[in-house]
Amino acid sequence: MREETQAKKQIDAIKGTKDILPCEAGEWRRVEGVTKGIFELYGYRELRAPVFEATELFERGTGQTSDIVIKEMYTFKDKAGRSLTLRPEYTPSVVRSIIENRLYLQPEPMRYYYIGPMFRYDKPQKGRYRQFHQVDIEVFGEKDPAIDAEIIEMAHHLLKTLEVGETETLVNSVGCAACRPAYLRELRVEAQKVKEALCPDCQRKVIANPLRIFDCKVETCRELSRTFPQIINFLCAECEEHFKLFCSYLDLYQIAYRVEPHLVRGLDYYTKTAFEVISGKLGAQNALLGGGRYDDMMKQFGGPDICAIGFAMGMERLLSAVKPRVTKNSFLYFVYMGEESKKAAMGLARYFRENGIECLLEFKDRGLKNQLSRANKLEANWVLIAGEEEVARNRYQIKNMKTSEQKEGSREEILKVLLENK
Ligand code: AMP
Repeated sequence: MREETQAKKQIDAIKGTKDILPCEAGEWRRVEGVTKGIFELYGYRELRAPVFEATELFERGTGQTSDIVIKEMYTFKDKAGRSLTLRPEYTPSVVRSIIENRLYLQPEPMRYYYIGPMFRYDKPQKGRYRQFHQVDIEVFGEKDPAIDAEIIEMAHHLLKTLEVGETETLVNSVGCAACRPAYLRELRVEAQKVKEALCPDCQRKVIANPLRIFDCKVETCRELSRTFPQIINFLCAECEEHFKLFCSYLDLYQIAYRVEPHLVRGLDYYTKTAFEVISGKLGAQNALLGGGRYDDMMKQFGGPDICAIGFAMGMERLLSAVKPRVTKNSFLYFVYMGEESKKAAMGLARYFRENGIECLLEFKDRGLKNQLSRANKLEANWVLIAGEEEVARNRYQIKNMKTSEQKEGSREEILKVLLENK
């Protein structure tokens, strides 16, 4: 009895994951297509890395003290006992791939992009999922702050093309290995003073990595962290100059931005530039994209000393902020009666499809009237009638379902009409 109930129980998708249904997939493909097209205009090429990697890659890359590594990774042991992790972000995979495949030896500009699923064991809510999709871009070997501004300009180009409104660009500098230690000392002293009022997580962060207190989502921690010293006031001369130039290039592009001194982003590896684009259309999870420089990661992974910058954008958030476009397929529906005309319809559909015409041929025993009303319901643009008589004469009727205009012809003549009206 129990077994029977179990067998009948519906199995649902895992919490925090979502199906992208056929009615949504067209819009995904359109947005992905526009995105890739724009990235290619700026010299970016696609780099596809595996969905899972050695856990150590993210521990070292994303950082031992980041929330992602501490709380959010999907980590498991494979059958050989190795610790693997479903990638929570893309950057460490790209860096690994560049080193492993020695891409840095190749003459082409090292500009890469990727669109694919990421996995984080985060608290699911609107705009935050456990499997979500990121658009990711990375540039290697450009230390000039002009590239920092150019990737933001590229993001704006994309958002403008997709008609995403109500965006705001936030920028900051998180310093470098030379200037950050003095800031962290000062920050730790200040955080220590209010330690008791912080959440248990942040209390641990005071010693481990006080910068990560800024990532906390608990309101009291957020409020307290607003009173903490700002890294922008601790920058060394080099970081200060970089930030000044970066801002001047944003001005050149006429991109409005706001300096947000507490923007440190949730990852341990950032150096100098950090930025986010938020959108008023998104509700509580308002960050559309975020990124920054990570000049030291390649070297820390045992690769050459090559600086880098990149950003990641959430596809689900992007899609909920773009102006949707209704795109309708144009297709031909076959109406036939009896076995012989069914066979003729099968041959015709094959011919039309080979010539780029979308056809729908259904194998249900329906009467003529029923087939026509089905074509109507499905919003077919054309109906082809392959009745016995038409098959015998090798000439067919097509009906334009919008105008009700009918035409007769051989399959070649009909193809011509369909192609002309595609
Ligand atoms: P991050 O890698 O955390 O800097 O995030 C970059 C972008 O990915 C964010 O601005 C969001 O658009 C998106 N994102 C991050 N986490 C999630 C999530 N759990 N669900 C949906 N989108 C996310």
